[in-house]
Amino acid sequence: MKNSINSLLVSFLLLPILGFSFASESWAQNYSWQQEVEYVMDIDVNVEAHQYTGTQQLIYRNNSPDTLHRVYYHLYFNAFQPGSMMDVRSRTIADADRRVQDRISTLKEDEIGYLHATSLTQNGKPTSFSEEGTVLVVDLAEPILPGGTAVFEMEMEAQVPIQIRRSGRDNAEGIEFSMAQWYPKMAAYDEDGWHPNPYIGREFYAPFGSFDVTIHMDKRYVVAAGAVLQNPQEVGHGYERPGDPLSLPQGDKLTWKFRSENIHDFMWAADPDYRHTTLQMENGPLLRFFYQADPVAVNAPADRQADLVKNWESLPEYTARTFEYANNKFGVYPYPEYSVIQGGDGGMEYIMGTLITGNRSLQGLVGVTIHEFMHSWYMGVLGMNESYYYWMDEGFTSYATDEMMSTLFEGSPLSGYGGYYRLAQSGLEEPMSTHADHFITNAAYGLGAYSKGAVFLGQMKYIVGEPVFDQAMLRLFEEWKFRHPKGKDVLRVFERESDMILDWYYEYFVQTTKSIDYAIESVESIQEGQSVITITNEGTMPMPLDVLITFKDGSVEEHYIPLQIMRGEKPAENQDILRTIQEDWPWVEPTYRFYTDRAVSEIAEIVIDASGRLADINRSNNRWTAE
Ligand SMILES: [Zn+2]
Repeated sequence: MKNSINSLLVSFLLLPILGFSFASESWAQNYSWQQEVEYVMDIDVNVEAHQYTGTQQLIYRNNSPDTLHRVYYHLYFNAFQPGSMMDVRSRTIADADRRVQDRISTLKEDEIGYLHATSLTQNGKPTSFSEEGTVLVVDLAEPILPGGTAVFEMEMEAQVPIQIRRSGRDNAEGIEFSMAQWYPKMAAYDEDGWHPNPYIGREFYAPFGSFDVTIHMDKRYVVAAGAVLQNPQEVGHGYERPGDPLSLPQGDKLTWKFRSENIHDFMWAADPDYRHTTLQMENGPLLRFFYQADPVAVNAPADRQADLVKNWESLPEYTARTFEYANNKFGVYPYPEYSVIQGGDGGMEYIMGTLITGNRSLQGLVGVTIHEFMHSWYMGVLGMNESYYYWMDEGFTSYATDEMMSTLFEGSPLSGYGGYYRLAQSGLEEPMSTHADHFITNAAYGLGAYSKGAVFLGQMKYIVGEPVFDQAMLRLFEEWKFRHPKGKDVLRVFERESDMILDWYYEYFVQTTKSIDYAIESVESIQEGQSVITITNEGTMPMPLDVLITFKDGSVEEHYIPLQIMRGEKPAENQDILRTIQEDWPWVEPTYRFYTDRAVSEIAEIVIDASGRLADINRSNNRWTAE
């Protein structure tokens, strides 16, 4: 492993400095408002009962041009009750998530989750509020005018459910508190109105703002969070205060104060057995790691326990290297800290931190860590509505993860193609414009989000070319950071950066399930020393084509066939290959011919898209070889 770290180091040093400045023209200038929240929460945790009570003050700024008469909060913990929408959905969908299945239906009273508002005022006046499953509907005491602010004061009580999905107590690896989606969270309001989706175990979307969170907790527990601890000198446990908190009198609690800004979620976790280590990156955040260092507590087969701890011990180095790569390639991580925390049920992202399970191979542990921290770019800083843009959230994250993993371990940077091909041939595919909760199967959602979403980018790179693509990814991050970009906003960044019209790509690939299949139909001599190549479009979606001809003498020619509707051309990606830009292909034409000034007898092979980035669902007819 040392070797691969060293070679990785070298490749980072060789990365070009991607410095560039933006023109004064802003490409996101039509985006004029978004809502804003300031949370101040104070909770007291009863660790024996796994319950807490507390207060929440929420300052809500209505930056919209609309007058609001209602607001909605999410109460996610209420999903973990028999008969909840999440329970019913999981028991009735054809291919249930194995982590959930019918487990919610069997929870006992002291195992369910709940989160209740026991009082709620607006600007000191009582509101009328009612719980509808995981959504709190609030009829306001007075309307919030455009540009107006409301101060909500809430008292709450909650019980932490047995760990089933993402959040909960006593996860499979012995972590006692995995605390995600644990507080009443204001729903998102944007130009499309309110988004108070009932929680059925899937996506999130919320306004940006700040969180001040105070947690009173039994002194034995180490508290980890996706936020910056404000009183490290008071708590110990590997934070700043020297000495052992356990030397405090029996029964005492510690008070933990956290703060985060420019963010739209707050996650924390707590366990008495956490080992806490840190790594300060030179040009980046302070990285924190919280994991079970006690082999008994790790809850893994005896022969694997030592390896698991070793994997965690080498994780900081891998995390720092890849964070650096991401900063250069995808935009600079803007927060002061990032926490990798053992907990949850797999891997789940929370902007300044992640909950991951840790009983994994080194490659698995590094892979899940990279995937989850890349979500800080695609979901966190670019705070898209995940219910509609899960394919950006999961797809862009998967794309970036596979690119980074291929620099660390054996593997292909071509992210998602295998999964997408399976999806396209499965008969289950639904358009990526489908709301995440409304897919008929989990499989179609999963492959659509992670695989086809990644292919959206891989193929975008194929269409606009790698240099333009790299610039556009940085531009996307700079233009849209701390905002809520939509799919078309991403498309516009690529259009402007490439000087191409790409609406057709979005329409076909995101909004339909049409697919690509080009074929080399024939290669024929037409006269001495000249050949004609005929390509047919056998698919239902058009694409520009890179056709590579390899001659028997070893020389190669690239023939680039732009689509006419792009009104532009991809610049050459490889300066060492002779490249001919052919006539535009008007997409209505089922066939296309072009010529090469060499005889058929000289040609060894012709390939449509030698790079593998065109998502052609039938690649067997993409290649012609001399007999
Ligand atoms: Zn993800």
